[in-house]
Order: sequence, then structure tokens, then C-alpha cells
Amino acid sequence: MTAVYGQDRVKQILDRSIRRNRHAHAYLFHGQAGLGKDTMAVALAMRLLCRQPDPWACGSCSECRRVMALEHPSFTLVHPVPSRPQSMKIGQYDEIIRGRLLSRMQNPYLPVDFHPELTTPPAIGIDQVRDMKKSVMLKTGESEHRVFIVSRAEQMSLAAANSLLKLLEEPPPRTLLVLTSNAPGLILDTIKSRCQNIRFDRIPRDIIAGVLQSERSLDSEKAGFFSRMAGGSLQRAFELAGEDFSVIRDQALAFFRQSLDSDAAAVLDYAAEAGRAKNRQQVITMLQLLRVILRDLLQTGLGFGDKATNSDRSELLTSLLVSYPRLDAETGITLVSEAIDYIGKNVYLPLVLTTLSNRLGQCKETGTVVYGKNT
Ligand SMILES: [Zn+2]
Repeated sequence: MTAVYGQDRVKQILDRSIRRNRHAHAYLFHGQAGLGKDTMAVALAMRLLCRQPDPWACGSCSECRRVMALEHPSFTLVHPVPSRPQSMKIGQYDEIIRGRLLSRMQNPYLPVDFHPELTTPPAIGIDQVRDMKKSVMLKTGESEHRVFIVSRAEQMSLAAANSLLKLLEEPPPRTLLVLTSNAPGLILDTIKSRCQNIRFDRIPRDIIAGVLQSERSLDSEKAGFFSRMAGGSLQRAFELAGEDFSVIRDQALAFFRQSLDSDAAAVLDYAAEAGRAKNRQQVITMLQLLRVILRDLLQTGLGFGDKATNSDRSELLTSLLVSYPRLDAETGITLVSEAIDYIGKNVYLPLVLTTLSNRLGQCKETGTVVYGKNT
């Protein structure tokens, strides 16, 4: 089973209530993607079903193994799925869904991708909730508890949500329902108020760095770098580790150069392309790298270039400072952070990028000359 990284506070809350046999009928685990909400939900299910929980599930008994294989009669994972194309046979569709959900069980920190076979946006439909309610009514006779996880609960259709609400209004005994969500604001208040809401914390950087080293075989420098960029999300850290990092960094450097050179045409090209590709996450990565570059410039300017994260590009950093001695990197960092916020709030991508570029261009004149004084 996958370990739950970090989340000591949440573990304590759950541990205490289970020990006292006073856990809630329903929980809503919420927080940004990649914090381990589903991992914790599975760990909680296994703890309740495991033969020898000490204090958490053993991970190796037959109960634990059947949960992991999605074959335990007292455990159900409800997950958003794309709809079945008319041309696809039911058997093949079920097999694809099952395969993807099994890999999610193996690593719940990674999102499920149903491409290329299934392409419609995933959702939780009324049928899935009805099936779940049917199995709630069945007597399994095998274990004391039954656990249902509704992952990405904000993706329930309204009909599905209303059907689930009825279950929450009259919770059957010894049944635990765990909803997880990255966007609890989109869940009906009537559902939220019937769950114990538990917010998940950012995973500490050192833990993320350790996971990247052990599971992605990154060296400590790279692992540390990505862990700083991941914002406490292990999913984000895995994505960063998988991205073609040097290409995106080159994009960041090019964008920065074009901004300083007031090369509006080049910036417009890039902004339009980014808007078309609709790959907001990659643009965010680019801007995060730009922010690191600006921090490096600040340090290099103060004579601490050896501490720069991008020390392999120190010549380039120095040449930028020579070309723009009055560069205000500090304001630049603030501007880039604001742009990342705007993108997160779904502001029109090309507009964010062109505005940022404009304002970064102004930064080249507004700083005080520090470079060269301390070196
Ligand atoms: Zn076990």
C-alpha cells in the first residue's frame, strides 16, 4: 500500500476518533490536489477492514490485499469516469476503467488519465451512486465495517449528489463514507454540512524531496529544487519531475529576455501559443522557474551567485546583470507571483502573459545598481 506522506495532524484526528470508536459516519477530506486525501481515505478504509491494524493497516493480510485489488466486498471506490462511447463494448469499457482505478490505488498521488481510449470529461453519475447505495444495503456478513470512498466528489452530477444526500441523511450503521475534493466550494452545502470536514495540509518540503529521491531516483539537488516548486503537493512534484525541465527553463529565460528587450512581437507569439495550447500548468511551471531565475539574479547581484539554484547558468545570469545593471529583480518576483495567482484564477492566459512581460520590461530601469559593488 502507498504510504501517507505528512498529514500528521489529520492522522492524529482520525486515529483518536477510531480508538474511541467515535469516528464520523461521513468525512469530507479537502485541500489542493496532491496532498494525499485519497491515500488517507484508502488507509482509513484498510484500517477498519484489516485483520491486524497496529495502529494502521498491515497492508499484507487478505483483507488489505482485497481492498488494494478493488475486490473487497465491504469496500467501494466511486470515482469520476468518462462516459462509454457508443462504439465500445461494455466489457472493454469496464476493463479500461478498472485498470485505471487499480493504478490509482497503487499511486493515489497521481491523477487518473483515461486517455487515449476515453475522452469525455470524467463525472460521477447517478448510476454510480445508485450502485453504491445498493451495496450499502447488502449484508456482506464478512466484516463489521463497510467503507465507501467518493473521490473528487465535486464532480458528482446534481442527480448523483441528491441521491448521495439521502444516504447521508440516514446513515446506515457501521458504514463509513469518505468524500474527497480539491474544490469543496462546488459541493452542495447540504452534503458538506453532513460530513465532518477535514482540511489537508501541505506536505513538508523535506518529505517531498525524500519521496522524489526514493521513487523517482532524483539527486538531492534536483529533488530539493522540485520540492520547493511543488507548493506542498506531491502530485505537482511528480509532474515537475516528469516534465522536460530544461526545455521549460529555456522558455522562461527566453520569455524574460524578450520582456527586458521589449520584444513585444515575440512575447505576443508565445502568449498566443500558450493560450491555444491551454496548458495552464506548463505556463505556471514556466513562471515558477522564472521566479527562481529572478531570485538567482537577486543573489548573484548581491555577490552570492554560488548559492543560485540555476548555478549551471551562472554566465547567463551574470550577462543579464551586466546588460541591465538597474534591474529590479525583487519587484519582478512580486509581478511573477501575481501572474501565477491570476492564472490560478482563470484569467485569460495571453492577457496575463503580455501584461506581465510589459511590467517586467519596466523593472529593468527601476532597481538600484548593486551588481559589481560587492564582487
Ligand atoms: Zn491488513
